[in-house]
Amino acid sequence: MTEVMHVETDVLVIGSGGAGMYAAIEAARLGAQSGAQVLLADRSLIGRGGATVMAQMTVAAALGSHVPDHWTYHLHDTLQAGRGLCDEGLSQLLCDEGPDCIRQMDEWGVGWARKDGRIAAAMAPGHDRPRCVYVDFLNTGPAVSKTLRAVVNKTSGIRKACDLLITDLVSHDGEVVGAAALHLTSGAPVTIAAKATVVATGGLTRLYRRNSASANMGGDGYALALRAGEPLIDMEFVQFFPIGHLAPRLIGMDPIMWDPFRYKLGGRLLNGLGEEFTSRYGSREDGAYVLTRDLATYAIVKEVEAGRGSPHGGAYLSFEHCPEAELRAAFGPVIDRLANNAIDLTRMPVEVAPIAHYHMGGVAADPRMETEIPGLLVAGEAVGGANGANRLSGNAVTEALVFGRRAGRSAAARVARMTSQPFRPRAAKAALDLVTQDSALDSPNSADMIQRLQSIMAEDVGPFRTREGLERAIARIDDLAGELGERPFGDGQRFDMRRIDWFDLRNMLLVARVVAQAALRRTESRGAHQREDFPGMLPEWRVNQVVRWHDGHIDLVSAPSAQGLVAAQ
Ligand SMILES: Cc1cc2nc3c(=O)[nH]c(=O)nc-3n(C[C@H](O)[C@H](O)[C@H](O)COP(=O)(O)OP(=O)(O)OC[C@H]3O[C@@H](n4cnc5c(N)ncnc54)[C@H](O)[C@@H]3O)c2cc1C
Repeated sequence: MTEVMHVETDVLVIGSGGAGMYAAIEAARLGAQSGAQVLLADRSLIGRGGATVMAQMTVAAALGSHVPDHWTYHLHDTLQAGRGLCDEGLSQLLCDEGPDCIRQMDEWGVGWARKDGRIAAAMAPGHDRPRCVYVDFLNTGPAVSKTLRAVVNKTSGIRKACDLLITDLVSHDGEVVGAAALHLTSGAPVTIAAKATVVATGGLTRLYRRNSASANMGGDGYALALRAGEPLIDMEFVQFFPIGHLAPRLIGMDPIMWDPFRYKLGGRLLNGLGEEFTSRYGSREDGAYVLTRDLATYAIVKEVEAGRGSPHGGAYLSFEHCPEAELRAAFGPVIDRLANNAIDLTRMPVEVAPIAHYHMGGVAADPRMETEIPGLLVAGEAVGGANGANRLSGNAVTEALVFGRRAGRSAAARVARMTSQPFRPRAAKAALDLVTQDSALDSPNSADMIQRLQSIMAEDVGPFRTREGLERAIARIDDLAGELGERPFGDGQRFDMRRIDWFDLRNMLLVARVVAQAALRRTESRGAHQREDFPGMLPEWRVNQVVRWHDGHIDLVSAPSAQGLVAAQ
């Protein structure tokens, strides 16, 4: 067998987006006196791999710099948007501690935009007042990532490991005691012994053909936790962003960048016939920007279905009515980047269409970011419940920062209580066998399998669902799982894409199955989950669905929602 590389640490953080980096910083800071060691591991480059570095817009926090605000107002809006399904303890944590993390990031030099010397905040849909801070509308996520990377680099006690694909969590005696991994650049199998493990692997939008995410967002953390015995909640709630860029080709820019400009300038949404159409779907929107994400998605999808879509299958977004100077004032350097892509907004509309963007569901956790399994913590988008059935703009980066910090604290506290390393090599054997196994010579085309899965999800588990479509999707996912088999593809040598795809597909298929099955069971429409065959929101469905993995089977049960303050609307 290939030689196994073994690493020992006190805290293992899996994923180095905003949540993972903040968790590592906090765990190392609190563990400094006892000399606690943190290992920050990522399948990509540290701080450059996931959604955080791509987020170009805003971060929600009730700072009240210019307009009075309080975290309870932010909580109220978050719970309203969550349509009765938020885990209120988590939502409260997000809103209450958001301002503190924003100020901490300010001290670390992130460079939040300022007005009259105080941190500026923009208005965003669903918030009752300007509450969304930003660096500028191109650099918010990159600045957040860069700042955290700099703090990680100067915090002693943090070791970093990039190109490390965590393939399984390792459990012993009912506790998570570390992980097994594949070192992508060498092909080496790796085991990591840890007293506390934080899963901060982000979301799952790579499951969909059109998505706003990087290629690392295939739901790894959900699959890792589920296979380790931890429940997931609210998995049916995938958020689609209505006006994701569709055409012409746009390189080097966030596909969801149109939102703030639409907000600022009242960009007009037109169908293929050049007509404003959202009023047909019950909106007062024409000329203003008031439509929520789920309703705008609905309006665009229905226009396309009626044969009135734009040439590439979406809608037009036009700023042609805006004077050039106004466009330049609002878009600033974006105008030049658009020009590099041969887009001149004074003369042409762009095409937009719904795009998979964020996942509200995830690993169940308490407000300490602890899970049911001792030794397993979770942070960021990997956590389910804070946003219920629908997330407000700007809440995701806040969630990454706040939950990351909290997970780091809890991990450090656990390490302080423990006297010995609970890892046992034999507990990692099954996971390591998978990493090192020889494969069959003629394995299927893994890249093609990923595309087929993305099509299944786009066609039948997208923003609008039916029983027939979901059942078809589940059958097709099961067929793909049969094709994938139990034995990894490829030879497991350096950067073996077929082997990497096999591990990715193993997780993606499990998570896709869970999303589809939860969507099939929820026979109502709520927030991001819209059933064409069950159009209304039903009081009896004001429950969270909890998913467990038992002997290779997915079990789904309903649990009463922990949202009590605001009545479901
Ligand atoms: C284009 C885009 C724009 C957005 N804009 C905004 C915005 O303006 N405001 C807002 O609030 N939110 C926005 N969001 C959402 C927000 O960015 C994310 O929800 C948030 O950044 C998630 O942070 P995270 O740390 O949980 O995960 P991520 O930042 O996604 O990091 C996860 C990390 O885990 C690593 N990883 C995954 N699996 C493994 C594995 N098996 N082994 C090792 N490492 C692994 C990945 O490589 C990655 O580095 C946007 C998202 C996108 C995609």
